[in-house]
This record gives sequence, C-alpha cells and structure tokens, in this order.
Amino acid sequence: MTNPVRTRFAPSPTGYPHVGNIRTALFAWLFARHNGGSFIVRIEDTDTARTVEGAVEGILESLSWLGLDWDEGPEVGGRYGPYFQSERLERYQEAAQRLVAQGDAYYCYCSTQRLEEMRAEQTRRRQAPGYDRHCRDLGDLGETEKFLWELKGIAPVVRFRTPLEGKTAFKDIIWGEVEFDNSTLDDMVLLKSDGYPTYHLANIVDDHSMEISHVIRAEEWLSSTPRHVLLYRALGYPPPQFAHMPMILGPDRSKLGKRHGAASVIEYREQGYLPEAMLNFLALLGWSLDDKTEIFSRDELIRDFSLERVSRTAAIFNQEKLKWMNGLYIRNLDADDLSQRVLSFLDAGLPVEVKQPLSTEYVKQIVPLIQERIRELSEVTELTRYFFVDELEYQGELLIAKDINRETTSQALEAAQQELGKLAVFDTESLEDLLRPLAAKLALKTGQLF
Ligand code: GLU
Ligand code: ZN
Repeated sequence: MTNPVRTRFAPSPTGYPHVGNIRTALFAWLFARHNGGSFIVRIEDTDTARTVEGAVEGILESLSWLGLDWDEGPEVGGRYGPYFQSERLERYQEAAQRLVAQGDAYYCYCSTQRLEEMRAEQTRRRQAPGYDRHCRDLGDLGETEKFLWELKGIAPVVRFRTPLEGKTAFKDIIWGEVEFDNSTLDDMVLLKSDGYPTYHLANIVDDHSMEISHVIRAEEWLSSTPRHVLLYRALGYPPPQFAHMPMILGPDRSKLGKRHGAASVIEYREQGYLPEAMLNFLALLGWSLDDKTEIFSRDELIRDFSLERVSRTAAIFNQEKLKWMNGLYIRNLDADDLSQRVLSFLDAGLPVEVKQPLSTEYVKQIVPLIQERIRELSEVTELTRYFFVDELEYQGELLIAKDINRETTSQALEAAQQELGKLAVFDTESLEDLLRPLAAKLALKTGQLF
C-alpha cells in the first residue's frame, strides 16, 4: 500500500485569516477528504514577536464556520485541539543539534550590530542581501572566540551550512520541475538564540513527524522550498510532495487587499454570507472542474476536487460574483432555514424596544417577501423593518397621487383605513372588491386611490 494522504494547514497566528489563507486551507482539506486521508491543523507560532492576540481563535473559528474539520491533535477538554509549535520546541532543538553535530549546521555568534553593518554595506555595494557566512568556518580560533562570547553572555543562533555550489531541484505538482541555484541561498537561521526555531526548521521537522504526504500551500512559499529540500536531505527525511497554490489578485490584478472588498472570513459571516456559498466561491479561486460549472455543494467539491485541475494562473477575486453566488444560495434555502439564519441579523439590527423575543413564526411569514431580493443576510433588517417597528418613516408627498391634492389624499386614506378594518381576508381579490367601489364612491380613479 502506498502512503495514506495526509495534508495540513499551517497558519502563523499573525492576524485574522483572510479569504486567501482560507482558500489554501480549503484546498488542503478537499484533497485530504477526496482521498479519504487526514487533515491536520498546525499553528506555527514560533515567531513570538509577530503573534497577534486572538488570531488563533479567528483561524479556528473560520475553519469551523466553513466546516473544515481537522482529524487530530493533542486532546484538550475532550476535543482535538490543533497542534501548536510553541509546545514542541524540544523537537526542533534536537534536530538543530543533530545538524550541528553532523556538520550541516553551525553556531553563529554575530551580534545584531555586526549583522546590521553587514546589511548596510551590502546595500551600499548593491549586493544581494544575505548572511556573509562569517561564522561558517571559524575553526580553532573560533572555539576560543565562542568561549569568550559565551562568557559575555552572547547566545548563538544555529545556521544551516548551505552548499555553496550546485543546484537544488524538486518537482511541484502544480509547477512541474523547479530548480534553484544554491548560490542564491544564504545560510539561513534554523534556531534563534532564545531556543525558538525559525519557520523553516520547525516546518520541516513537523511535516516529517506528522507524516505529511502533500504540502499544499500558497505560491509565495515556492522560493523557500529549495531550502526545505536541502533540510530534508540533511536530516535524512524523505521529502513530501509539494503543491503551491496560485496567488489571488484583485480585479485590477494587484495584490488582493481590503480595497477589493476582500475581508477576513469572519467579516463575511457577519455581513450575512452563507458558509456554503463562501465554500463554493473559495473553491473556484484557482480550481475549476471544467471551466463552466460554477455551483458545487460541499459533497460535490469533495468528489470533484483534484490538484491536476488547479491552475498556475493567479485567480481573480471578484466580490460581485461572491454576492451573486450568495444570493443564489439564499434563494435556494427553504423558508424555515432562511428564517433561522436571519434571526441573529434581525436581533442585532432592530431597535431594542421591538425586540425580544422575535417570534420565529412571524419571521417565517416575512422572509418569503425578501428572499428573492437579498444577496446578503444583513440586508434583511432594512427591508423588513416596517414589520417590526410601529412608527413608519416615509415622505408624505409620495402618497399624493397624480391630479389630486393633499386634502383629497388625506380624506381618501382615512376612508380607506375605515374600509380596510372590515377586511376578513388579506388577499388581492378581497382588497379589490373593497377598494374599487370605494374609489367610485370618492369619485377618484382606481389608480389614484390605489
Ligand atoms: N506558517 C506558514 C504560513 O503562515 C506556513 C507555510 C506552509 O504551509 O509551509 O503560511
Ligand atoms: Zn555569524
């Protein structure tokens, strides 16, 4: 039997996940589900300076909202939590020490000041930035120096001994054969002086120990992959397969951002997007079945997804299409379901005095009136407000029909109100039977009275 499929989503908790991050998670999840494999969530929180409070919660909430469930992790309170790299530091430290012992990595004692000067010098000379390998071959003299530095309390970092020559090649499922000149890679830091690993080291150690079969991640990581391949080799780990997902751009082909309407997934939920519409929309950012089918249920996505149909061309994020798709999904809900889903929006949007508790039965009678029109659930409040609030806000002038004056209008309205009080059934026919004779009685045209 070949290795089972195991994929992972490995976000760094540096902010709220936006649609692009979650699209990548979705593809990794779909690939695992399509192949009956496992999907793992691993929080890459080793860059403590960049960690943002609440980001982890935002990530997990986004995944849960879309139903992107994960299969394992340390058990917390009867549930599988995701893995956190900050809880696994020893593994990375061990790997770094092993690399030093076998000569594939070395200690670097360069001070921040020295590195800054080096960088400034490189800029001045218009050289490519990168560590100048000062500590790579310190030799015997280095031993003494090291001792002195340690006496001064300067803790070293561990750097990778990147081969100076040759090329590193690998195969990417999306991009085919990819090759980098080793001379373009500097000696990256693997372990920082505080004992925390860098992204590169922790990522490789974990993908190996978690037996990840397919690394599915954003295109921006393609240029890190040769470094990873070298690390796999040095550690004696068989590398996984790589698949780098295409970028997502705004309609103007610039990097996707807020100005394109691209928000965090949670913001979309708050605006009234349905998770099934969001899932469908995200799946088409870089993947297609046949270039024409646009509507896919979750099960259809699982059935149809393949990496072969992921394109290299950047996907364009089209906010209008998302809205359209959401409207379509809203129209296909049954009234019960839609009522349930709009409740929280009405709850939040209506003034306090009309609230509590909103009658589900009442809401259920109202939603068919707006179902065809709304494209975001949050629109429901404005469109149905007058069903909940007594005093109406309107412009009186708009009620004055053609060729009649203010006075006649007001008399006609009062007469109509009286008549309407007698109405037993509120439907078109009964209304007509009641109001047509009234128009005649008031000597108005039916159009004017209506
Ligand atoms: N922590 C990286 C990120 O935030 C993970 C990249 C990868 O999947 O290897 O995107
Ligand atoms: Zn150094």
